[in-house]
Amino acid sequence: MLSYKELGLVNSKELFAKAVKGGYAIPAFNFNNLEQLQAIIAACVETKSPVILQVSSGARKYANQTLLKHLAKGAVDYAHELGYDIPIVLHLDHGDTFELCKSCVESGFSSVMIDGSHHPYEKNVELTAQVVEYAHKYDVTVEGELGVLAGIEDEVSSEVSHYTKPEEVEDFVKKTGVDSLAISIGTSHGANKFTPEQCTRNEDGILIPPPLRFDILEEVEKRIPGFPIVLHGASSVPAELIKIINSNGGKLKDAVGIPEEQLRRAAKSAVCKVNIDSDGRLAMTAAIRKVFNENPAEFDPRKYLGPARDALKELYKHKIINVLGSAGKA
Ligand SMILES: [Zn+2]
Repeated sequence: MLSYKELGLVNSKELFAKAVKGGYAIPAFNFNNLEQLQAIIAACVETKSPVILQVSSGARKYANQTLLKHLAKGAVDYAHELGYDIPIVLHLDHGDTFELCKSCVESGFSSVMIDGSHHPYEKNVELTAQVVEYAHKYDVTVEGELGVLAGIEDEVSSEVSHYTKPEEVEDFVKKTGVDSLAISIGTSHGANKFTPEQCTRNEDGILIPPPLRFDILEEVEKRIPGFPIVLHGASSVPAELIKIINSNGGKLKDAVGIPEEQLRRAAKSAVCKVNIDSDGRLAMTAAIRKVFNENPAEFDPRKYLGPARDALKELYKHKIINVLGSAGKA
């Protein structure tokens, strides 16, 4: 048993309480390699933002769980070396079984998500309560989910979205004891969040996605006032990144995300954690494609992963400062 406290990490409890009161959201950035981690920590230290380092089960397999705990400890020390000790959470994204959540609690995670949203309601309650009971013994915080997001992300996929039913949230929170709740209000996983048929086009031919269901968010807030809400699938899929990728040999078609103004509005409410993964993937891919297109003879990984890391860091700083409002809150 390795406690996250030995790694210098914190759970999400205090961060969320402050974020809900302060009208901002904590960034939850996914990572699975060194350059992504360096970019996240550097961006958060420079903007003095708390951060949730997020690892999916696929990323945990990719990066290796033994390396991961040392990377998390390294992130804490790296922030210190950069000159500012920001609070860092290590969080499991989309845990799907009790065993996986338990294994993460035992290997240094300070927070886990148990996603039982694809199960019938009663089964979701039962599974989530089981994880909460175990995790809380070790002071590890737990995120649950009600409602299903459309889209594909690692091993999580759904063709259709099911909005969260506000009438279920009080009962779910009470019966499970979760610390935060992911809800479905029209965000979606991946870089193709909506089909062109679901969107309208502006005069430049740019796809405009359907707006988020703020009415559902408000109804949820009314029923569980001050309770921390989480938004998944909240990348904005910037058109300029798609343009760089496609003008350097890429073939991303009809990629569309959530407009940043809508995320800003959500972050000012009870939404206190916003998950951003696809935008980071796009920023890295755009930077790497540009290097390879402009200099096909390049073969030193530092010469393309370095620019990718720089691009990621700028993207994260932009999200922290202009979208989530978490700058200066560490
Ligand atoms: Zn998700």
